[in-house]
Amino acid sequence: MLGYVRKNITEVEYHTWFAPMKHLGVEGGSLVLGVRNSFAQDFVRRQYQGLLEDALRSLGAEHPQVTFQVLPAVQEAMILPQETPTPVQPGPPGRPAAPASPDNRKNLNPKYTFENFVVGPNNNLAHAAALAVAESPGKAYNPLFIYGDVGLGKTHLMHAVGHYIAERFPEKRIEYVSTETFTNELINSIRDDKSAQFRNRYRSVDLLLVDDIQFLAGKERTQEEFFHTFNALYENHKQIILSSDRPPKDIQTLEGRLRSRFEWGLITDIQSPEFETRVAILKMNAEHNRIDIPQDVLELIARQVTTNIRELEGALMRVVAFSSLNNVPFSRAVAAKALSNVFAPQEVKVEMMDVLKQVAAHFNMPPDVIRGSGRVREVVVPRQVAQYLIRDLTDHSLPEIGQFFGRDHSTVMHAISKVTEQLGKDSELTAAVELLRRKMKG
Ligand code: ADP
Ligand code: MG
Repeated sequence: MLGYVRKNITEVEYHTWFAPMKHLGVEGGSLVLGVRNSFAQDFVRRQYQGLLEDALRSLGAEHPQVTFQVLPAVQEAMILPQETPTPVQPGPPGRPAAPASPDNRKNLNPKYTFENFVVGPNNNLAHAAALAVAESPGKAYNPLFIYGDVGLGKTHLMHAVGHYIAERFPEKRIEYVSTETFTNELINSIRDDKSAQFRNRYRSVDLLLVDDIQFLAGKERTQEEFFHTFNALYENHKQIILSSDRPPKDIQTLEGRLRSRFEWGLITDIQSPEFETRVAILKMNAEHNRIDIPQDVLELIARQVTTNIRELEGALMRVVAFSSLNNVPFSRAVAAKALSNVFAPQEVKVEMMDVLKQVAAHFNMPPDVIRGSGRVREVVVPRQVAQYLIRDLTDHSLPEIGQFFGRDHSTVMHAISKVTEQLGKDSELTAAVELLRRKMKG
């Protein structure tokens, strides 16, 4: 049963919540699980009840029931296991939905909605495209092709479109499938002599979402079948959304005719979220889970995990678990401790002066001029970039950065939002920020 659970959540979640549980037996037809305290009880019930019931169902239980019991206090200094870093897996697309959902969204994760998607400069184009497609399926961009590294929200956006359409057009048929599942189902249908059923199923939908299409590489038979599925839907103006970890041109051994079809509509990417977006994602997560956690702790977490949102969420959960299990309030020190063993390679420590010097060198301008009082654009832009990068790469607060530049914190805040606003729009600025960031992270 824990095996089932483990397959459907991340390793960090598993070690945080499930590994410390005790299996207390069965009482009145209900599985009783022992948890450390009432916080863990509430949290697991809220987050994982549905998953636990599914796990029991997978073992044959007809009316699965799970109850929790708080275990007597244990005397341990630090309760969370001091494990060695576990690589956090991307995980399967969405854990099973807890509540019964309408049939046309049976494979959609109820959490992956537009409402729950934080928009930042890293994903605003993909978000806008997804929304346009959701509003006029088959008409805006077809297909919509979203690519980006793992854990950046591709599956989330696809599901969001699914939910949006399901809500407005309950009669529409929506099919979400990973490329792996598509491939397996195709193979099975051939083996079982059910190719016709397979075809009908995929060629009669109104919205087809195919995740991780890069896995079509090298699978000739599946490519052939998908080609015909694609054509059938496309000709009938049915919306297709594809995701991939790379753009179509970089998918090796993909037939030319498929590649060109993937390029017919709109290709859009998602990048790693910047600091402010990471903080916003953490904040939304904390609010959803009704966890009251100070801003500076969220910022510390956002600095630890920079490239994968799934890991970012895992880090938040770990901090929450750590402080609750040890009965200590949230603080930066507690958060640092909770994360110290998991998210191993710490970032290189960068100081404000380093950042200023790098920015100065990039813009070919003495550091003191950047810190000075000049108001011409040639000076203002490097100054804003420096403040933005210091905020992103160091641990300093807005007032501290302000002091360093001889300005107040609201000026710094303004500078940061100015840069954030221009990212993705002003390509020269975006390139400069990216280059500098990469340089300083070592
Ligand atoms: P991918 O499919 O690109 O690997 P996912 O869509 O599975 O990534 O996203 C990983 C996790 O991060 C999910 O829990 C998702 O809800 C969350 N996530 C990704 N992007 C955002 C965002 N912009 N706002 C809120 N949560 C996000
Ligand atoms: Mg995905």
